[in-house]
Amino acid sequence: MSYKISLIRGDGIGPEITEATLQVIEATGLPIEWEEVVVGEEAKARFGHPFPNPSLEILKRNRVALKGPLIVHKGSDPVTMKHGEETIAHPSINSALRRELGCFANVRPVKTFPGLPTKYPPIDIVIIREVTEDLYSGLEREIEEGVAEAIKRTTRKACERISRFAFEYSKKHRRKRVTLGHKANVLSLTDGLFLNTARGVAPAFPEIRFDDLMIDALCFQLVNNPVPFDVLLLSNQYGDILSDLCAGLVGSLGLAPGANFGEECSFFEASHGAAPDIAGKNIANPLALILSASLMLKHLGETDLGVTMENAVAQLLRKKKGLTPDLGGSSTTKEMALELARIIEGGTACGS
Ligand code: NAD
Repeated sequence: MSYKISLIRGDGIGPEITEATLQVIEATGLPIEWEEVVVGEEAKARFGHPFPNPSLEILKRNRVALKGPLIVHKGSDPVTMKHGEETIAHPSINSALRRELGCFANVRPVKTFPGLPTKYPPIDIVIIREVTEDLYSGLEREIEEGVAEAIKRTTRKACERISRFAFEYSKKHRRKRVTLGHKANVLSLTDGLFLNTARGVAPAFPEIRFDDLMIDALCFQLVNNPVPFDVLLLSNQYGDILSDLCAGLVGSLGLAPGANFGEECSFFEASHGAAPDIAGKNIANPLALILSASLMLKHLGETDLGVTMENAVAQLLRKKKGLTPDLGGSSTTKEMALELARIIEGGTACGS
């Protein structure tokens, strides 16, 4: 069976790490027909809009996509999408993609790979981040010169949907504990709503321990002793910030994969950004996107091949061969991909 999957190569280091990822997927032998979708800087240059409607249609039709990172310029205008008479403004191209595709859950596993030097003991944490509302709703305005505000929109519907998702995910993946990070002592209506809604969902999953921590206390505990944490349930902004913090715990942003899930569509992308400072130098670490692709294969039901890719990454890191500079090596993006493809084709990284 051949899969038809949308492909967004992305901006900055996007095209380089995407090419590396395609090479590694190809080594698994899984037949995939890629349909290229133009979004971001290239779409702006070619069509005058970062997210043209035909691109959205392809993404909706194929339902599953692999996505490179996209640049969001500081202070840039919202991304406006026209739906008939209605115009919807999204704060960035990334939130436009998530919301237009109905993806409400951003899942970011952060796991230590043996053999890689880190400042922390081994951790295995999954961040589940709500991505449709909160401070990133796009409800921001200047009231008068020198006074601006952003609205932290929070609805019970979205809180319940992400809480249920987090518990169901935890049950499916045999996770034992869900910890919600919040600031309900200060933001009693918004974060209070999130916390109380999750508390209402938790009893339906008695096998999973539910607890909560103030977001500042959670940050302290994560850098002090992250080992006991399992699944972190977070609103949009806290999830964004803690994703990078947790990537730091395992040694590199280049090791943090991600997935976005909705009722119908899903897309898979690294947690990190477009890294314009190293774009075009062939030194970007492609592992986060490769691990995101491994999540994608598992989502498609190709679990063994997904595990094969993950095992190949683990083997490469253990052998410390083919590592990019961020991991202390001197290999290029292309050399790393080649080494991974070799491991997979050599059959020493089999799944299950
Ligand atoms: P970034 O994650 O792109 O880079 C932060 C630092 O980490 C940089 O020094 C970079 O060189 C390094 N880095 C990141 N990924 C790496 C990799 N794979 N290999 C080696 N080093 C890597 O964050 P930023 O600089 O704040 O953002 C750059 C652009 O990316 C911005 O326009 C931002 O809006 C965008 N961004 C996009 C996404 C996304 O598409 N999902 C996510 C975050 C940021």
